[in-house]
Amino acid sequence: MKCAPFDYVRAASVDEAVTTLSQADGDGKILAGGQSLVPVLALRMARPSVLVDVNRIPGLAGVTPEGDAVRVGALTRHSALVEQTHHPLLADAARWIGHTAIRARGTAGGSIAHADPSAELPVVAVGTGATVTVAGPGGTRQLAAEDLFVGALMTDLAEDEMLTEVRFPLPTRWGFAEFARRHGDFALVMAVAAEVEGTVRVALGGIGAVPVRAEAAERVLAGGGSLREAAAAAAEQLTPTADLHGSAEFRRAIAAEMIRRALTRAGLS
Ligand code: FAD
Repeated sequence: MKCAPFDYVRAASVDEAVTTLSQADGDGKILAGGQSLVPVLALRMARPSVLVDVNRIPGLAGVTPEGDAVRVGALTRHSALVEQTHHPLLADAARWIGHTAIRARGTAGGSIAHADPSAELPVVAVGTGATVTVAGPGGTRQLAAEDLFVGALMTDLAEDEMLTEVRFPLPTRWGFAEFARRHGDFALVMAVAAEVEGTVRVALGGIGAVPVRAEAAERVLAGGGSLREAAAAAAEQLTPTADLHGSAEFRRAIAAEMIRRALTRAGLS
């Protein structure tokens, strides 16, 4: 199938992108790496009247250390996340995204704005307590990643807002574990364990509409419980979605194992 017709605007600045989106009155879409949007357009699951290409906006790509965090520009490609050394957890997780060609084009901002329930970067964002910067017609605002994801493929972003940067705290200890049928497939379940400012955070992806904190596991660990106890407590709390790829029970069992592995890799006990 071919895309429905659309106007194309190559924005030279964030202001121009946001203004063009505002003028499109809810009928515009940002084009970043195109790895999720283009298939959606080709299948005519979306028919925007205008595409705003943000790829040539200067200053939006790169990973910059800043104190106990890194700032990741929206246009940072997944491959650049794999190659950087400032935030090893991000590098570990980004390795799992699709295949080489997808990592070469797909962007951090696109992945987080697209909010696929089985995508890696949203789970790292929730797992580390990341903050997202968003530009809109009225200026910029910041929000916690946990408040950004509101449903499968749904975020708190307005139709005329653009995500420009994500600030990922740098954990002192971290672990990432993922279960997918084949390497490069979207995850069935993934877990992030991150010690940030002395607190252990555990987040899961692939088990529901949005990334979730495994708060039961966090409580067990804070109370001195073992990794196995933490993983079991988290699994008990979960109500995973069943689909073609696995039953709810299967996902619960895999989630417990992914939590155990992520915590083990983090060296947390
Ligand atoms: P685009 O496709 O350009 O845009 C996606 C959506 O986000 C659009 O609605 C767009 O308007 C919006 N958007 C983009 N940038 C912004 C912004 N800065 N502000 C606001 N809105 C914005 N992803 C994974 O995480 N894990 C995988 O295992 C995985 N496997 C894949 C396998 C295949 C075969 C394919 C085709 C894709 C896969 N992906 C996977 C998706 C890939 O990571 C995409 O790169 C990502 O989902 C979207 O990033 P993008 O830059 O390509 O965004």
